Amino acid sequence: MTVHVIATGGTISSHFDGDQWTNIDGAGLVAELGAEAVDRVVVRDVASGPSSNLTVHDMLAIAEAARDALTAGADGVVVVHGTDTMELTAFVCQLMLGVSASRRPVVFTGSMRVHSHPAPDGTANLRDAIAVAASDRAVGREVMLCLEGALHAADRVAKCHAASVDAFQSAPFDPIGSVIDGVPVFHDAPVERPAAIGFVHDVPLVTCYPGIDAASVEAVLADVVGAVVEGFGDLNVPQQLWGPIHHAWNRGTLVVLASRPFTPTTTTEGLSMLGAVGAGGLTAQKARLAVMAALGSTPDRDAAVEFLRHLALVLDAGDRSTS
Ligand code: ASP
Repeated sequence: MTVHVIATGGTISSHFDGDQWTNIDGAGLVAELGAEAVDRVVVRDVASGPSSNLTVHDMLAIAEAARDALTAGADGVVVVHGTDTMELTAFVCQLMLGVSASRRPVVFTGSMRVHSHPAPDGTANLRDAIAVAASDRAVGREVMLCLEGALHAADRVAKCHAASVDAFQSAPFDPIGSVIDGVPVFHDAPVERPAAIGFVHDVPLVTCYPGIDAASVEAVLADVVGAVVEGFGDLNVPQQLWGPIHHAWNRGTLVVLASRPFTPTTTTEGLSMLGAVGAGGLTAQKARLAVMAALGSTPDRDAAVEFLRHLALVLDAGDRSTS
């Protein structure tokens, strides 16, 4: 079994030696797990520093490194990453690779405490992540985040606490699994997802706020192939944005509405009249990446909408309907 570890920096590799901060590279992190781990792991460093600095191009480069490792015959891939944007790079990776029955595991991990902390969390997370990546049980699964013994699917998970070691949640879903004594145990079946052919990059994200100015949104939507607007509740946007969104859709722009609370809504009569589709439960940040992938895979807007439909998170709360 050979697992490829792709190191990209983050808190897990930040070390204060009493004098200055240094970066522990991937080989250094793996060496702390002992000789057995070193023997079964191939390490590659592709970035260093905080993950808040990463661009989508950087995220695609990390995802390409994971894809190359699988193509080279790795039994599994671990990406060591800062937690701030881990869920986004993991989602880019899943968009690039898709989810299919035979794909070997790709597992992201990191830590909330620095390497030089007296009780660091990075070592246990990395050990678990390598065990999951090497496991046949994890074949065919979503690209995963592995932290604190929990396994989260890249499309559901979000960092929700910036100061706790227990920093990630998949709410309103549960984690997809846990790691028990180095063995992954999954609680549900994976959902197959399409792999993107390419990514377009001119996809802005507009976050609505009370009193948002229509002219500025009109300007943002003026000349783009796709855009995400983060509204409120069940994809409601302030009425002054109805015109700009409608005009953009009529010009051919793929306008996707997302919301901070989870909503599985994708298409409704109201959205069709407005000129938009829903993000299917993806956060606004992930919806933007999904639109990049959809429009990078097909120039046809209807086909791109169909691509997005295959990424939707399905959770039938079913308790708000009055009909
Ligand atoms: N600021 C760090 C980063 O995202 C946080 C972490 O690694 O946990 O790189």
